[in-house]
Amino acid sequence: MSIAKAYAATSPTAALAPHNIERRRPGAQDVAMDVLYCGVCHSDLHTVRNEWQNAIYPAVPGHEIVGRVTAVGNLVSKYKVGDIVGVGCMVDSCQHCSACAEDLEQYCDNGMTGTYNSPEQGTGANTYGGYSSHIVVRESFVLKVSHAESDLAAVAPLLCAGITTYSPLRQWKVGPGQKVGIVGLGGLGHMGVKIAAAMGAHVVLFTTSASKREDALRLGAKEVVVSKNADEMAAHANSFDFILNTVAASHNLDDFIALLKRDGTMTLVGAPEHAHPSPNVFGLIMRRRRIAGSLIGGIRETQEMLDFCAQHGITADIETIAMDQIEAAYARMLKSDVKYRFVIDMATL
Ligand code: NAP
Ligand code: ZN
Repeated sequence: MSIAKAYAATSPTAALAPHNIERRRPGAQDVAMDVLYCGVCHSDLHTVRNEWQNAIYPAVPGHEIVGRVTAVGNLVSKYKVGDIVGVGCMVDSCQHCSACAEDLEQYCDNGMTGTYNSPEQGTGANTYGGYSSHIVVRESFVLKVSHAESDLAAVAPLLCAGITTYSPLRQWKVGPGQKVGIVGLGGLGHMGVKIAAAMGAHVVLFTTSASKREDALRLGAKEVVVSKNADEMAAHANSFDFILNTVAASHNLDDFIALLKRDGTMTLVGAPEHAHPSPNVFGLIMRRRRIAGSLIGGIRETQEMLDFCAQHGITADIETIAMDQIEAAYARMLKSDVKYRFVIDMATL
């Protein structure tokens, strides 16, 4: 057991503040690491404010972790002290159900263990995330980072925002010749634009913030639509093969369903506090359109995504913050004012 410095929320209304937590002693299959950088995901905010009504306090968020290995158990073979590694949204799963057998640990039938706010396998102790000095993680949930050391802060967001967009883009076979929409230019959305463009798709970005137009084009979108403008939306009716919706708030899905081609799919990854209004069934049945959902990605696919991003020179566009600026970062996130991911430099803890 060791004591880690961390930032925690102690109630849905309390600001995050310094808090010491316990980390387990690394077991035979564990990797211990110092956290170098941790990205700030909207899920961190949903959790600490208890918007999904499942928060356990104290809550230490953070699931976009890049760290340096400080110790390994005697059965660990992939990593050694000094290696740069990543940890995303999961730190464990049952390892024997059908989902785990297919490298889809995020859909573990027995419940994957989230990096934070989740019962640890075996002990049931609450997990604490990356807003902390160090963390101990089972080897099979640790990722290899091959980006340059100078990029590490901008690599951290790949561990959630990257994989959450990469996985559905792969699952729905996005590629050249396809028209793909990304809804929302925040942390997830900006990674979705970059990755879908790298996969060769014609990317159209939908935003509620007209001021993000130039940025979206720079990030790889070929067209930008301000979704509040009905004329701009109507010009794209029945034309999309696939739409990835990353919006963190409840909104009308019908406006986007109307833009899908026959047999087109809109996949929801945004997880808002309040439910979306129920879509109009005629929008779906008339052209056999589909609405789907997707949760992060499995460990094998997360490694594939990290390697894909390293090959294509993809990292996140980030603003680095000190740990004690987290509440200001959350406030800006709530105003859709993130360009395009906050990353905490954990040396400031
Ligand atoms: P974020 O950085 O805050 O970005 C969300 C974006 O949604 C905003 O930048 C904004 O983009 C748009 N938006 C916000 N409020 C809106 C509104 N009322 N109407 C329309 N658009 C609005 O959040 P994030 O970190 O990317 O996360 C997005 C969502 O995905 C969150 O709910 C998060 O919990 C969820 N998530 C899900 C998974 C999964 O596995 N499924 C994984 C990670 C995160 P514009 O300014 O461009 O409109
Ligand atoms: Zn996340």
